[in-house]
Amino acid sequence: AHLDRIADVDPRINAFLHVDAEGALEAARQADADRAAGTPASPLAGVPLALKDVLATSDMPTTVGSKMLEGWVPPYDSTVTQRLRDAGVVVLGKTNMDEFAMGSSTENSAYGPTRNPWDIERIPGGSGGGSSAALAAFEAPLAIGTDTGGSIRQPGAVTGTVGVKPTYGGVSRYGLVAFSSSLDQPGPCARTVLDAAMLHEVIAGHDPMDSTSIDQPIPQVIEAAKQGANGDLTGVKVGVVRELSGDGYQPGVQRSFDAAVEQLSKLGAEVVEVSCPNFDYAMPAYYLIAPSEASSNLARFDAMRYGLRVGDDGERSAEEVMSMTREAGFGPEVKRRIMLGTYALSSGYYDAYYGQAQKVRTLITRDFAAAFSEVDVLVSPTTPTTAFKIGERVDDPMAMYLADLCTIPSNLAGNAAMSLPSGLSDEDGLPVGLQIMAPAMADDRLYRVGAAYE
Ligand code: GLN
Repeated sequence: AHLDRIADVDPRINAFLHVDAEGALEAARQADADRAAGTPASPLAGVPLALKDVLATSDMPTTVGSKMLEGWVPPYDSTVTQRLRDAGVVVLGKTNMDEFAMGSSTENSAYGPTRNPWDIERIPGGSGGGSSAALAAFEAPLAIGTDTGGSIRQPGAVTGTVGVKPTYGGVSRYGLVAFSSSLDQPGPCARTVLDAAMLHEVIAGHDPMDSTSIDQPIPQVIEAAKQGANGDLTGVKVGVVRELSGDGYQPGVQRSFDAAVEQLSKLGAEVVEVSCPNFDYAMPAYYLIAPSEASSNLARFDAMRYGLRVGDDGERSAEEVMSMTREAGFGPEVKRRIMLGTYALSSGYYDAYYGQAQKVRTLITRDFAAAFSEVDVLVSPTTPTTAFKIGERVDDPMAMYLADLCTIPSNLAGNAAMSLPSGLSDEDGLPVGLQIMAPAMADDRLYRVGAAYE
């Protein structure tokens, strides 16, 4: 049914870069057989899923939305991919994304933009717009995204779906094409909080192949979602982050957020306002740290080891071939980030830019620690506006970067955060997202509060 749905609507949505119908049907038949034999691999066995094209799959191309890796089939599965297969989850295919996960609209994909199923003239968010659009268009009930600065949560918000950035280190990055290694985190996308929780527990947990993977038991998020479903938040303290609302937020988004806060209070939560003064510097710090790490990570695309190779005529030097390949293979936003990053890291500038940004990162982590010593979770809108029009911000990188104003602090601090639908804006009828943030390794709080609110 999902393959039929994809065939029907994806020509208009462009959520998928690759669909593996044969592989999906085979996995589904296996799951059916296991279930008939009374030995399903997991509760999610046989459930279809859309996988962001940044995670390695040994049986499908992994392009990262870039010409640089067009047609590249990795020799191995990412840990996330492997855990999905072990759980009997049916991987339908790979979803569209901004090139190397850099962007907030999926317009930076080398394979054309994905469209928002709510209004196909609008963006589905980014970088994981393909995964969220696939959910919103009912092409898949589950999806995987990755979140470096908001790429799971912001697409979730603008498509009316649920997206979770787990605690950094909670889900393995092994086999994830690296953008900014100290920020990147894979996570679950779904249409309900409980669905997200079930997927979360399949992919989470320690992995010796990832040096930053946390070697601790997985937060019990399914149990938390079930507990939350009783709708009682008595004893839960919720902090509204003062710096993440007001000026610059669409009135329709602000009203939806205010109503969500009132709802949390009706469910029994104690709501207080908290201040995180250094959040104002999160965006500038992020746009130094993320491009710096990206410029280093993307040095591996040298035309020699894998991916595209341009101009190799037997005459040109290796340097010329590298240069021609990188010129042809990377899109404008990726080039911008590489230049920003190499500049920020260069000798003489390191202390002024990268070093300074790292200090701001510490201050933001302290703001969170201070806030979480008073409240259990923090809330904010997920993103300042509803889905904007395709093309509206392509010529204005700063306007594009603003989409992640509220999501970036949690990446810098490494803690857990969720976006879930808070209804439709009374301004334009488009979905609005509520963001819930929790301390590291307290992902379960997101699910309890999220399920109660939902
Ligand atoms: N939009 C942000 C960026 O362009 C975040 C992307 C992400 O989370 N991968 O860097």
